[in-house]
Amino acid sequence: MNYVTIDTEADPNSVTFPSTMKQKDLGKLLVKELLDIGIEDAEMDEWGYVYATIHATKGSENVPVVCFCAHMDTAPDCSGKDVKPILHKNYDGNPITLPDDSTQIITTDRHPYLKEKIGDDVITASGLTLLGADDKAGVACIMDYANFMMNNPGFEHGKVRILFTPDEEVGRGVDHIDMDRLNADYGYTLDGGTLGSIEDESFSADAVEITIHGISAHPGYAKNKLVNAIKVAADFVDQLPKKSWSPETTSGREGFVHPTSVSGIMEKMTVSFIIRDHDTSKLAEYESQLKKILDETVAKYPGVNSDFKVKEQYRNMKEVIKDVPFVTDNAIEAMKRAGIEPNPVIIRGGTDGSRLSFMGLPCPNLFTGEMGIHSKHEYVSVQDMQKAVKTMAHLTVIWKENV
Ligand SMILES: [Zn+2]
Repeated sequence: MNYVTIDTEADPNSVTFPSTMKQKDLGKLLVKELLDIGIEDAEMDEWGYVYATIHATKGSENVPVVCFCAHMDTAPDCSGKDVKPILHKNYDGNPITLPDDSTQIITTDRHPYLKEKIGDDVITASGLTLLGADDKAGVACIMDYANFMMNNPGFEHGKVRILFTPDEEVGRGVDHIDMDRLNADYGYTLDGGTLGSIEDESFSADAVEITIHGISAHPGYAKNKLVNAIKVAADFVDQLPKKSWSPETTSGREGFVHPTSVSGIMEKMTVSFIIRDHDTSKLAEYESQLKKILDETVAKYPGVNSDFKVKEQYRNMKEVIKDVPFVTDNAIEAMKRAGIEPNPVIIRGGTDGSRLSFMGLPCPNLFTGEMGIHSKHEYVSVQDMQKAVKTMAHLTVIWKENV
């Protein structure tokens, strides 16, 4: 509840790193708290990453180094300024009217998972902001677990690395991670939702930018000369499949080709796409079909040219994790030992773990209980967070057992 009062909203339009310097305010507090509990090497680097080490206990030096990671920033979709967290002890199942804006009412109808949290202590914001449980719930779980480890010298464990990152919400969370400095073998992000959820399979993702060059002329004297790129772009978008290929027509393991923006002028139009599939090889198929549609459209307009640029965004972390399945299996076993039913989920999106996995740190995502994220209705159950901490403790034990 303290961490969410510190404004760490990220800014997608910023060119600095971190995108907002206020994210470092939370980083500074975390470093101080880590130092206070006796973690001597806790530090924040110039980019705002917080690194800390809990050393292996005697005889456990050969256990793989496991990193627990959470992000400190909050989503720009909803204000993160002056967050006032409210603790609803022993939640009774009734609609929660947020006091600072009585039109903001959290109900179990709109949030079915909340019905399962009756009897739990639930934290919400006050109606004017998001809560920031995404991902300060993850931060709090890791801090609580660090505190537990430092205060229980009898608890035997391998080396644990702690990593807090800025700017996850604007897709730059791993841009400046120093993997040598991190020096961990396997990782877990704590940034998932419902109790027991574990995500080790994400989309593979490309971006495509299409530019259509029309032929400009003075409109008063344009007969048989002007070819309006706006109309060519509209024709092109109209040629896309209407019953498939889109986020609005796909689910589960189906991928999509999704136009996200159209901009430009009569002379030159740009159409941006995101391409997604769990099977990376399908991306190239989508791209060649998209290019074919573009070429066929443009061919109808003599003199018009087009460019087609593909940019890789991230890849399905399963491609890495399938070779080290014990990373996921250990987490599933840890949940079972903590009395939680594991629930593997396929992400229709990406996480920092997707990119971390390809940077050499296989990194599934574990639940924290954060729900209704990026909105004023965001909430989190304290008991879910406690179970995430329990899961981390069992996980640490299992890594040591399996050496
Ligand atoms: Zn998050």
